[in-house]
Amino acid sequence: MAEDRRVPLRWVWITLGLVVVSSLWYLLWVTVGAGPVAIAYVAVPLGGMAAVAALYDLWRVVRGNRVARQFWGCLLAGAASMTVGYVLMAVNAFRYSVGDYTPSMPISAAAAVGLGFALAMWAVARVPVGISGTGQRRRMYLDRTIAFLGCATLLWHFGMAPMLTADERWAPQTLVLIGLAFVLSIAGITKVAYLGEGPVDRTALRLVAAMSLTAAGVAVLAATYGNAGGPPSQAVVLPLAPLLLVLAARVQSRAAGRAPRTSSPLLPYLAVAAVDLPLVAVATGELWWPGRVVILAAVVVSVLVVVRQFLAFRDNSRLLSDIRAKEERLQHEVSHDGLTGLANRAWFRDRLQTALAAGESATVLLVDLDDFKTVNDSLGHDVGDELLVSLAAVLRERTGGDGIPVRIGGDEFAVLLAGGTTVGETLAQRILDALTEPISAHGLLVQASIGIATAAPDATLDSVLREADVAMYAAKQRGKAAYVRYLPGMAEPVLAHMRLGGELRHALDKGEFHVVYQPVMALDTGVIIGVEALVRWLHPVRGLVSPADFIPAAERTGLIVELGRFVLRETCRQTAAWLAELGPDVLQRPAVNVSARQLRDPGFVADVMAALDDHGLTPDRLVLELTESAALRGGQISRTLHELDRLGVKLALDDFGTGESSLSLLRAFPVAIVKLDKSFVDGIEVDDANPAARDARQAVARAVVQMAGALGLEAVAEGIENEAQAARLGELGYTLGQGFLLARPMPAAEMTKLLAAQHSAVTAG
Ligand code: C2E
Ligand code: CA
Ligand code: CA
Repeated sequence: MAEDRRVPLRWVWITLGLVVVSSLWYLLWVTVGAGPVAIAYVAVPLGGMAAVAALYDLWRVVRGNRVARQFWGCLLAGAASMTVGYVLMAVNAFRYSVGDYTPSMPISAAAAVGLGFALAMWAVARVPVGISGTGQRRRMYLDRTIAFLGCATLLWHFGMAPMLTADERWAPQTLVLIGLAFVLSIAGITKVAYLGEGPVDRTALRLVAAMSLTAAGVAVLAATYGNAGGPPSQAVVLPLAPLLLVLAARVQSRAAGRAPRTSSPLLPYLAVAAVDLPLVAVATGELWWPGRVVILAAVVVSVLVVVRQFLAFRDNSRLLSDIRAKEERLQHEVSHDGLTGLANRAWFRDRLQTALAAGESATVLLVDLDDFKTVNDSLGHDVGDELLVSLAAVLRERTGGDGIPVRIGGDEFAVLLAGGTTVGETLAQRILDALTEPISAHGLLVQASIGIATAAPDATLDSVLREADVAMYAAKQRGKAAYVRYLPGMAEPVLAHMRLGGELRHALDKGEFHVVYQPVMALDTGVIIGVEALVRWLHPVRGLVSPADFIPAAERTGLIVELGRFVLRETCRQTAAWLAELGPDVLQRPAVNVSARQLRDPGFVADVMAALDDHGLTPDRLVLELTESAALRGGQISRTLHELDRLGVKLALDDFGTGESSLSLLRAFPVAIVKLDKSFVDGIEVDDANPAARDARQAVARAVVQMAGALGLEAVAEGIENEAQAARLGELGYTLGQGFLLARPMPAAEMTKLLAAQHSAVTAG
């Protein structure tokens, strides 16, 4: 709990001050008789008001937890009611006290105090004990009964009995009040001794229950002074009650994170010992001596039993703490991850489940490394492990005291936070910031995607985790290195995407993909100089699915690496077949599209070389087409491109002219071919419709071909659909083109026929 949420210390000082001042006044009053006796009645209502204020402060900050809120709310109401009662009592005292005489409690005051006291004790009674199992429960009730009877005997003998048998008649309201306080306080105390750790802090609860001891104190005083204990109880004993309440509130407000302790099972024995006191008192009284011997013997026996029990208890607890230490070590082993030392999945689920069951709000951050598999596959498991350890350190450091980092498994981590504020976002940002620099000894720059979900009041463990998962997935979809908080309605598109991802995997395994080829031709002669390989998905239900629909999904899931490898190998195989069947001149080069994601794969160059090698093709036979935006994605891709160029593979810039830095890219990368984007070809031939737009397109088309000529690159015009376009492009200086006019993408068999026809035409001519 944060600093500013603590109950202010001033309430402690005020109530403590009242106790001290009021006690000092009482001393003066007893010794030199200072002032009217009614002053004795002032400290309690004033302290009560401070206690109400402190409890109100606390009540506002324990919002997060239902049990705690009910307890402290009930106590607040109780304190308010008692304070009202004591105010009435003080007013009454000022009105009617004369000399040393003080009036007895008015019925209204007694009712308010009684109600308040009952509310407070009811609050204590309702706090769950945290004991499970019938055996344990039965034992607890037995212990509590013993303790109750023990305390009750004590209070009966020194408190109630003298009152009831006093010569002076007691006001019935006083008797009822004291009796009530008596029963409730003992019940409360015996209960508190058995409380486990829960949402209501145990020390705070003890302080609250101790408040009832002041009532017991009053009962004892009352036996001597009459009149609800008179001035000493009002001035000295009762002002302690508000102090205890304020202390309890303060303790609770700073209770977070204290280690749980087990409750002491000694209470019943103490109670047995307590019964000895009245026994001794009776024995020393007016009893005949043989009777006295019996009683004293009973006392000695019970004291010895208690001592024996105490010794046994001490041995037991030593044994227990040994076992507990071992258990803790074991527990640590099963609840923590061996590699990173973070808590593990089982611990995480358990802890979250507990928080949810207690009605506490919790926030989960799911942190997933982007492309971890690539690191593992290409650099080895040792490097991968080291990366995970480094990430764990980052999480530990960035989370600090705000939450607990967990390794869920593989490259998936989580942070568990208490509460549902924006602290999740702040932490997510802190983590992403830390990852802008290399984190491991190998200088690996990694990215993570983070999903955030806060448990709704009716949340279950699985629903929170699912939401965090969906949010994490959405973060991945947003291009990675991002965090996303779960919002209602987010699941559907994400799930659809996940499903598509799953289906793609399936499709790849079942061989539902195939490659079609579209020729690239010389515009003037119609001779095929190359083919572009385009992937197709023949879905068993949906039929032919366009790459525009599944390539983005394949890129996000990383499946594009495998799919791309398939297209590349298939194209190489087919090309080799054409060359073998129709001779080495049938086709200058096949072109294959590649995504940025593939270029980032450290094994990409090796894959390409292997595909060529396996089919006896030389690297200069192959063109790889990539878009400008792919080429621009960072240093590693740039290195890959230069490496490919060094090996002789040709690179083509696809969709040329649509990006922002097309021209500078030509200088920065080893490009051999530019493919003028279809958007500059569309409408290039129209004369009337929109001359300005047409002129602009023509200007781009012309600039591209001229520049390509100047730099010694080939220029290919894409998406040519009619003769007029082809003619216009020819005039502008294009010699190569691709488009539906020339030929549509076609299956390999059809392509073979086309190539064969061309081959025979050439050999014939
Ligand atoms: P792209 O690389 O620009 O490929 C050219 C696209 O234009 C192809 O669409 C082709 O069928 C279409 N096209 C060709 N001529 C004409 C024409 O005259 N008119 C019109 N309207 N369209 C024409 P497709 O096959 O649907 O592919 C779409 C995109 O999907 C490709 O654009 C490419 O970026 C991507 N793609 C296709 N196959 C692969 C692959 O194996 N790997 C990767 N990474 N991407 C691929
Ligand atoms: Ca292309
Ligand atoms: Ca294109």
